[in-house]
Amino acid sequence: ERVEGKMDNLDSLSRDLRTEIERLDELFWVSGETLKAISKRFQEELDEGLQENGRNIAMYLTWVLGFPTGHERGAFLALDLGGTNIRVCWIELAERKGETKVMQSQYKIPDDLKTGSADQLWNFVAESLEKFTKEQGLNGSENEPLPLGFTFSYPAIQDYIDHGVLQTWTKGFDIDGVEGQDVAEQVQEAIAKRKLPIRLIALINDTTGALIASAYNDPDTIVGAIFGTGCNAAYMEQCSSIPKLKSHDQAKDLPSDTRMAINCEYGAFDNSHSILPRTPYDETVDEQSPRPGEQTFEKMSAGLYLGEIFRLILLELHSKGLIFPDQTNLSYLQSSYSIDTGVLSFVENDDSADMGDTKNRFRREFNITPSHSDLRAMKHIAITVAVRGARLCACGVAAICRKSGIQKGHVAADGSVANKHPKFRRRWGQALGEILDWKEDREDDPIVLTSAEDGSGIGAAVITAMTLERAEKGQM
Ligand code: BGC
Ligand code: MG
Repeated sequence: ERVEGKMDNLDSLSRDLRTEIERLDELFWVSGETLKAISKRFQEELDEGLQENGRNIAMYLTWVLGFPTGHERGAFLALDLGGTNIRVCWIELAERKGETKVMQSQYKIPDDLKTGSADQLWNFVAESLEKFTKEQGLNGSENEPLPLGFTFSYPAIQDYIDHGVLQTWTKGFDIDGVEGQDVAEQVQEAIAKRKLPIRLIALINDTTGALIASAYNDPDTIVGAIFGTGCNAAYMEQCSSIPKLKSHDQAKDLPSDTRMAINCEYGAFDNSHSILPRTPYDETVDEQSPRPGEQTFEKMSAGLYLGEIFRLILLELHSKGLIFPDQTNLSYLQSSYSIDTGVLSFVENDDSADMGDTKNRFRREFNITPSHSDLRAMKHIAITVAVRGARLCACGVAAICRKSGIQKGHVAADGSVANKHPKFRRRWGQALGEILDWKEDREDDPIVLTSAEDGSGIGAAVITAMTLERAEKGQM
């Protein structure tokens, strides 16, 4: 078997269902050779992105200059606006590692906010900041406002570190009045409206946060990556190798050996549809998303979409009369994004007798009672979709490593897919080895996934500290 976990033989299934499942296997399987070709094109797009911001991989400047020393100190507010939650933290970077203090509150982003207006969004954000600082008794003043690092996990062009113009919403967000605008300014305005003594110092991407937070503790960190609701990575690049930096006046005075973190935004890889083996399901996901034509790579590999692809396949098999044949009410299953990646992982990892756990869960949550044959098919398909996702995910990191000549180190990863999908790590590593031609009988993988430190908390705090330190020295 080329895919471990798929040992189940399908003999007990009907012939037509088996045929369909085998067709899906073929359709979703990405061979080592194809992975290599994808990764090669990936590398070209990374290079193109450093020339100028293109339609594909953008390679955004972050103005985070070099790795932290590990001696950054101070107390900071951190705000994280992700795909699912908003989190506010107060972080005290301590003299002794392990003594860093983090206090935090997390609020779920209400669904209607994701398709609301800019005012509603920033008002909610400022309200969360206000609640948190009150609860924690954090008192800034007009003269000494609380310094804030804001993790904004969407593609933004930054001309300096406390600036970022949102290019396009991703991950299903569709809020009016933010695209094309400086989000740093918008959040600062909402803060001012409530007269909160808070000053935004740095706007960062979650990948940059993961990179810096992890490097703060682990010098072997080479990449910060998110495999979650969305997908993306950041790494450290030599400024002399970033041609588009030349158009920025303020970068002229940087010492020649300076490095800058690059937020790749590689979810947009292959937006021109030149290489990824897209299936009809991927096309449907794209067409039905709020931003068709964007985030092509992300839509095939990130958590938000894996469950949706799985759902589309189940519906199709049902329409062919091959699964859930006697179920009359499929309304839950028919609503978009009703199956998240957690369900996918649950189905795949269900080792209970006759997959009774999945059966119960589907009965409870989706009003469907799957038969024995349905369950076997579901498990097989869940694996098919997850394996493709993990293998594709390896292409991006392989391309970054190739491009920068990195042969070993730690890829600091965060996100629900990396953390909650137990087999992701192994599949990803296997695919990386196929792309980079690692020996089959190697003892250890030279490049491994590690769990990122808290990027949007500690990472945002460390970057804020680095920024204030530079400002104090009169550096950009
Ligand atoms: C966003 C990135 C982010 C990634 C992971 C993508 O949809 O465009 O900025 O890093 O998700 O959260
Ligand atoms: Mg996040």
